[in-house]
Amino acid sequence: MYWEKEIETMDREQLTQLQSKRLQATVLQAAKTSYYKKLFDKLHIQPEKISTLKDLQNIPPTTKEDLRSGFPYGFLATPLEQVVRLHSSSGTTGVPTVIYHTAADIDSWSNLVARSLYGVGVRKNDIFQNMMSYGLFTGGLGMHYGAEKIGTLVIPIAAGNSKRQIWFLKNFQTTVTHIIPSYALLLSNLIKSEGLDSSQDLNLKIMLIGAEPHSEETRQRIEELYQSKAFNSYGLSEMNGPGVAFECAYQNGLHVWEDAYILEIVNPKTLEPCPAGELGEMILTTLSRQATPILRYRTKDLAYWIDEPCPCGRTHYRISRIQGRTDDMFIYHGVNIFPIQIDKVLMNNPEVGSNYLIILERKDLRDTMKVEIEIKPELFIGDLPKLERLRERIQAEIRSETLVTPEIILVEPGTLPTTEGKAVRVVDKRQL
Ligand code: ADP
Ligand code: ZN
Repeated sequence: MYWEKEIETMDREQLTQLQSKRLQATVLQAAKTSYYKKLFDKLHIQPEKISTLKDLQNIPPTTKEDLRSGFPYGFLATPLEQVVRLHSSSGTTGVPTVIYHTAADIDSWSNLVARSLYGVGVRKNDIFQNMMSYGLFTGGLGMHYGAEKIGTLVIPIAAGNSKRQIWFLKNFQTTVTHIIPSYALLLSNLIKSEGLDSSQDLNLKIMLIGAEPHSEETRQRIEELYQSKAFNSYGLSEMNGPGVAFECAYQNGLHVWEDAYILEIVNPKTLEPCPAGELGEMILTTLSRQATPILRYRTKDLAYWIDEPCPCGRTHYRISRIQGRTDDMFIYHGVNIFPIQIDKVLMNNPEVGSNYLIILERKDLRDTMKVEIEIKPELFIGDLPKLERLRERIQAEIRSETLVTPEIILVEPGTLPTTEGKAVRVVDKRQL
């Protein structure tokens, strides 16, 4: 069940020593980039003196804007001739952030992905259909290389073209897939409408779901729809991509691969470390990257530490599922709300279908919040009072979860917009 037993189950003291050794090398490597060299000079930081987490915390965090300011080569620590690939964040506007990889970087990243996949049971004889987009987005190639390292047969089908996805799932009897959770919900509708039954016609056993926040309720729904296990997979292009933190077979939080990353979870306002159980922003430092070492990257992703040993025997600490990004949070009537809170309520209702959209508007200086929800087709044939009761129930459940009372609009399946990539769950028209 372990890909690298020694590292995965290393005792904490040894793991901390390994981190410290790798941190020293990373900071020295970072000093070769023009960005960190300038920063160290300005703040009189001596890179050779940084070897513990405490030392590291003297270095100011690196933000996405910093990475952008270094475009194109400000964060490159090796000669360009050693670089074999670049990835770039899917960020929507402006200058992209670019991460360079040497062959050794690709190898160590693939190894982390292989470790994650092997840990949930992916083996040589599996058939792995990778439904993530290939290209600059890291979910495609990142998982691909990791799965190939195990020796799995990989189908690089990429995102979209749902009919073709289903055709491959059925005809190759795909056993493993990597899929965005919101897309998994949508795809299951089409599987049904093609007259297929997941438990009889498909052979999925392991689904890796990630790239966007999703609730435990969404995971359970996906597991039920596909009659397969679904494991949470976390990563971001600035830290390679998939393979930063991953659930093990126990599905009780994500192990952070601490031999490759140092994770801090901090209060986003004060940057003070959060104790276990307290939600905070994840700050990550690479420990095994040559071309683009990054120190204390502010991910904007929110999670909390889980302070208990995992029954799987891995010693790498676990975190909760990611609750969202600091900038996903919206304020409505003075209340802070994360879309995942609504996700949780909706996915817990069997009548709710596969898609929903939260719309915020401002009318006559007053904010309004609408939640449009696709419901199962059979319900539309049913009686109106029943629909009205459902609407009221969902509204009450959202109120008890978030303390606000949005307008609830039930719509037919297939009416709300969809994307091939990460779902857009909130449309905030208040600033427009
Ligand atoms: P972008 O920042 O442009 O979306 P990435 O492709 O690097 O580019 O996406 C990484 C981000 O996706 C993470 O910072 C996080 O917000 C989100 N993400 C990735 N995996 C998960 C996951 N398992 N749960 C929640 N959010 C995730
Ligand atoms: Zn575990």
